[in-house]
Amino acid sequence: MGLKDIRQRIAKAEAGSGRDPGSVQLIAVSKVQPDARVAAVLDQGHRLFGENKVQEAAGKWPAFRERHEGVSVHLIGPLQSNKARQAMDLFEAIHSVDRPKIAKAIARLAQEMGACPDLFIQVNTGEEEQKAGILPADTDAFVAECRALDLPVRGLMCIPPVDEAPSLHFALLAKMAARNGLDGLSMGMSSDFEEAVSFGATHVRVGSAIFGERDYS
Ligand SMILES: *Cc1c(COP(=O)(O)O)cnc(C)c1O
Repeated sequence: MGLKDIRQRIAKAEAGSGRDPGSVQLIAVSKVQPDARVAAVLDQGHRLFGENKVQEAAGKWPAFRERHEGVSVHLIGPLQSNKARQAMDLFEAIHSVDRPKIAKAIARLAQEMGACPDLFIQVNTGEEEQKAGILPADTDAFVAECRALDLPVRGLMCIPPVDEAPSLHFALLAKMAARNGLDGLSMGMSSDFEEAVSFGATHVRVGSAIFGERDYS
C-alpha cells in the first residue's frame, strides 16, 4: 500500500511484460479522499491525479495547483454536457467521452476556447445496463465521429464488470484501440492494475491502494 509500493509494482509489471520503464502513467485517484492524504502524495512528488466528479474537483484542485507546480488532473467519471465547459477548464484529460452528444459539446467548446484536453473514449466492454460507455459494436464508428469533429482522441478507457475476469476486458479494449490506431489505454484499478499493464495499459487509475479506503460516510 502507498505510492512508493504501487510505483514499484508498476515498474515490475512493466519489466515483466517487456514494456519500457515509465511507459505506464499512474493516475492517483483522489476522489473522496481527505485533503491531508492528497497533500501527502503531492509532497512525495506525485503530480498526476484522477477525479470522478467535476464539482468535487473544482472544490479542491485550484488550491492544490497554487501550491504545487506541474499538477495534472484527469476526469475519470461521467460528464454532463452542461458541465463540459467547466470540465475543460479544470482537467488536462477527460477519460469519459461516451456519446455523440458530449463529443459535439466538447468540439463546440474546443473551437470557442482554442484548446481541448486529451480525450479517451469510454467503452462499456461488459455491455452492462447500468454502466456508462459506448458499446463495443459502436466504438469504431464513434472514434471516427470524434475524429471528424477534430477532437484529440488519445485512447480508450474501460471499467470491467466486477464479477468477471478483467483480463478479457483489457484484451478487448487493447484490440479495439489497435484497430483504430489509438495508443492510449486507460485501464486497471487497485485490484487489477498489474494485469492491465500486461495487456498494454498506458494509464492505470489507482485510488484506494495508494490513499487507503474511501470513507463515504
Ligand atoms: C474510483 C475509481 C477508480 C479507482 O478505484 P480504486 O479501486 O480505489 O483503485 C478507478 N477508475 C474509476 C473510473 C473510478 O471511478
